[in-house]
Amino acid sequence: MLCTAMPPPRSQSGRRRATSHRRDPRPTPPPQPPPPPPPARRPPAPPQPGAPPPPPPPPPGGRRPGTVGGISAELDREFEGARRSRTRGVILGVASLLVVVVLGIGGVVVWQVSSDSTSTSSKPKGAPDQNRMESEAPLATPKKQPYIPAKGTGKFIRPSAGGRVYGHGKLMRYMVEVEGGLRQDPVAFARSVDRILGDRRGWTAAGKWSFKRVDSGPYDFVVQLAAPDTVDKICGSYGMTTEGKVNCSGGKQVVVNLKRWLLLTTYYKGQPDAYHALTINHEVGHRLGFGHATCPGRGRPAPVMQQQIFGMKGCVINGWPFDRRGRYLTGPAVP
Ligand SMILES: [Zn+2]
Repeated sequence: MLCTAMPPPRSQSGRRRATSHRRDPRPTPPPQPPPPPPPARRPPAPPQPGAPPPPPPPPPGGRRPGTVGGISAELDREFEGARRSRTRGVILGVASLLVVVVLGIGGVVVWQVSSDSTSTSSKPKGAPDQNRMESEAPLATPKKQPYIPAKGTGKFIRPSAGGRVYGHGKLMRYMVEVEGGLRQDPVAFARSVDRILGDRRGWTAAGKWSFKRVDSGPYDFVVQLAAPDTVDKICGSYGMTTEGKVNCSGGKQVVVNLKRWLLLTTYYKGQPDAYHALTINHEVGHRLGFGHATCPGRGRPAPVMQQQIFGMKGCVINGWPFDRRGRYLTGPAVP
C-alpha cells in the first residue's frame, strides 16, 4: 500500500531545492542610479593660469602625468561613484579626450586615452567580480546536505540478527536490509527498526504480535532502506508510483526511501526519531492488516495509520500506535 503518496511542497524535491541553493537566494540588488550627465556637458575646469594645479592622485604604475591628473582623478571618482560599464567608461574617456584636445593639451592625449581605458577597464573587472561573489556566496556557506544518491548498488546488505523477541502474541519474523552505496550503516538502521518495533508504544502493546528479527529462513516482512530509484522500481513492481520521493509497502516488502528517512517531512522537521517511528509503525501496520485512519479531533494525537504527510487535519504529530499508558491511538477509518 502506498502510504505517503506525495510529500508536502516544501519537501517535494530535494534536488530542486539544492539547485535553488546554488542560485543566489538574495534579492537582486537595486538598480544602479542613472549615470550622471556625460562630462562633455560639464567639462572639468581647465587649469587656471597661476593657480596651483590640484594635487595629482597616486599614479597607476607611477606614470600618470600631473597635468591631467585632476581630470583623470575626477573621472575616476565619477567611475567609482557611478560604477559605470566599460562602454560608458570608454565613451567618457573619449569625451575627456575631446576636452583635452579642446584645451590644447595634445601632448597627453594618447596617454589620457590609454589611462582612462586602463582605469575604466578596472570597473568591468570589478563588476564581474561582484557578480561572481553574489553567485558564489551561497556555495561558500551551503547548508550541509545529507548524502542521498539517486541510485544505490541495487544489492541489499542484511546484517545478522540477534534473535531477541519483542512482545507477546503471534510471532512476526522480519528482516532488515540496506541497499549498498547509500553510505548508511546497515547495523545502525537495523537497530533503529528493532528499537521502534520493540518500543512499548509500538504494535507489541496490542498484545497480539511479537517481533523477531531474522537474517535467514522464513520471514513475514522485510524492511528495506533504499535509494529513491530503487524504491521506484520495487514499488513500481507493485503498481505504485513513488516518484523517487516516498515510501511504500507491498507484498512482504516495507520499502523506506532514503530521501524521506533523512529529510523527513514538514511536520516532523527536526524530529527524526518521531518521523522514523511513524514510518516504520505505519508501514508495519499495513503488514499487520491495518488500513488508513484520520484525525479523531483537534489537538488529539494523529493516528499512526493517518497519512500525516498530507497534513495533520488538526491533530498533533504522533508516530506510535499506542500511548505510554497503552491506549490505542486511532481515528475514523479512511475508506
Ligand atoms: Zn499507508
